[in-house]
Amino acid sequence: MSIKHIIKYCLLAVLIPLHAVARALGIARQGVAVLMYHGVGDEPWEFSVSSQTLKRQLDMLRRSGFQFISLAVFERILRGELAMPRRSVLITFDDAYQSVADNAVTELRARNIRPVLYVHTSRAQEPLGNTYTLMSWQAIREGAKFMDVGSHSHAHPVLKELSDAELGDDIQKSIAVCHEEVGITPTTFAYPGGKFSERVIAALRRHGFTTAFTINQGLVRRGDNPFQLRRIGITSHTTNLELYAHAVGVGEWYGQIMKLFK
Ligand SMILES: [Zn+2]
Repeated sequence: MSIKHIIKYCLLAVLIPLHAVARALGIARQGVAVLMYHGVGDEPWEFSVSSQTLKRQLDMLRRSGFQFISLAVFERILRGELAMPRRSVLITFDDAYQSVADNAVTELRARNIRPVLYVHTSRAQEPLGNTYTLMSWQAIREGAKFMDVGSHSHAHPVLKELSDAELGDDIQKSIAVCHEEVGITPTTFAYPGGKFSERVIAALRRHGFTTAFTINQGLVRRGDNPFQLRRIGITSHTTNLELYAHAVGVGEWYGQIMKLFK
């Protein structure tokens, strides 16, 4: 272990209890950690974690006292119908890569974790800018027994750049295809590329959506706008320590410390 690592651990060892005190005093508020994954496998890709890494992350969170919640419970917490747990996590997967079905579902089921799968219903590869295999509708239907399915738009466009008509059309199509292929009417959404605007939010509301996730980093706290929900983006570079720091709400402090060592 290098001297940098030792200093980093020591700083976090001070910051994390300090944050717990701040939370107890009502200075910092508790929140739900919503993790955003993409692929799970051995692809040499920044947005894919190996199944070993996924297992390590899930087990670390559970050992650290986090409870894994479903979307239904998350929404009840957000609406104030359930108390905010001291430490809770919701797992999400964007784009529905086949590697999630191959390498994540068994691990999640073994731990009784129900994640959310955000599907762009055109299933087009081109807007994603990679060639990693996407789940077929058959695989999504199978996965829907163990995961909640949300909309990630139809064509995965930059929604805020669409005209009103195109925007309504894309959202409408995503709902219709989810209904036709999976038999559900989605009420949760993840913005493609994390990009949204007030106009996009209004269109989602009109189409019956109740929650939408961004890619902005942070915890979800009670009172947050349900159409601007933050997540913690997981990449192949995310260490357990970094994930822990984000999940307990000291992610920004962790980021500042890391900058000192760049
Ligand atoms: Zn996406």
